[in-house]
Amino acid sequence: ESVLELDGIAKRFGSEDVIGDLSLAVRDGEILTLLGPSGCGKTTTLRLIAGLEKPNAGQVRLQDETVAGDGRFVPPEERGVGVVFQDFALFPHLTAHENVAFGLQEWADAERDARVDELLELVGLADHGDDYPDELSGGQQQRIALARSLAPEPEMLLLDEPFSNLDVDLRVEMREEVRRIIKETGVTAISVTHDQEEALSISDRVAVMNDGDIEQIDTPQQVFQQPESRFVAGFLGHASFLPGEVHGDHVETALGRVLRDDVHGLAHQYDGSIVDLLVRPDDVTAYPAAEAEADGRVVYRRYLGPTVLYRVELDDGETIECMHNHSDRIDLDERVVVRVTADHELAWFPA
Ligand code: ADP
Ligand code: MG
Repeated sequence: ESVLELDGIAKRFGSEDVIGDLSLAVRDGEILTLLGPSGCGKTTTLRLIAGLEKPNAGQVRLQDETVAGDGRFVPPEERGVGVVFQDFALFPHLTAHENVAFGLQEWADAERDARVDELLELVGLADHGDDYPDELSGGQQQRIALARSLAPEPEMLLLDEPFSNLDVDLRVEMREEVRRIIKETGVTAISVTHDQEEALSISDRVAVMNDGDIEQIDTPQQVFQQPESRFVAGFLGHASFLPGEVHGDHVETALGRVLRDDVHGLAHQYDGSIVDLLVRPDDVTAYPAAEAEADGRVVYRRYLGPTVLYRVELDDGETIECMHNHSDRIDLDERVVVRVTADHELAWFPA
């Protein structure tokens, strides 16, 4: 069942349509990430849910109660929604304990202290209650911000680019921690990011946004391997499109045959259909070859640490990217054979 429903939401700032006609249902207890490029409307969507903006059209429903739309507007403090801001927004003159207690002013003293201790324990900072924010590391400040938002037992937690203020190393560690903490409390969470790796690693489902709309909402594996649009395919990682023609049990491409069974949902395409197969760098292998056998030439090479990304210009003018281990070095300008070696079903798009 859904904790949150957005139904036909539109939002304008002046004459700019920031959100077009956005609908979304968030399930009880899931972590959903809104993923999309800067400026596509992610923060605005969170603010509409939190009650910090009013929609121009559509409804926001929390636990089946309309909190915006149909002439109703429930203010932020009455929505039971916690927000973790990008810069953590801790009160500098309050200790960690006092920061976490901030949303519990209505609570009786003993209960409040017990709740704060419970939260400090949950985020692994039981010994830091008396520290001020400037005595805490970035990761610890984030834990306190999370504890503060969770303390009043919100129905729903919103996180806007929660890791963008952390060093790269810490980011990966905190992703795991934030996911653990959210799952331990069982709160339903919506996180926002423009970082595809972050979205794929912390989410139960990912909603890919483009220009104020959701293009696809699916599990991380589905949005990555079975994107429903070229935008989603390209936004989630390197994507090359290999043209081919469907023939009998296979697709004929410039790199040889790909079996029809190895392409997702191609069973009902007519013979003679022209399709573009989505191939990611991991799905492709290239190796040096004599001129007569070669399919193309390496035109670009980039070291990524343990792996190397190559771009090959095929003799028919298409380009395709592949990823190799550091040890299988290929030189720039070298002539190569290229083969599709995916071990999963490929996605395709009509040409
Ligand atoms: P994202 O979080 O995906 O980067 P935002 O939701 O912050 O995107 O912004 C989407 C668009 O809405 C941008 O073009 C931004 O300039 C515009 N916008 C956001 N808030 C306001 C505002 N208060 N007034 C005017 N324009 C705004
Ligand atoms: Mg934003």
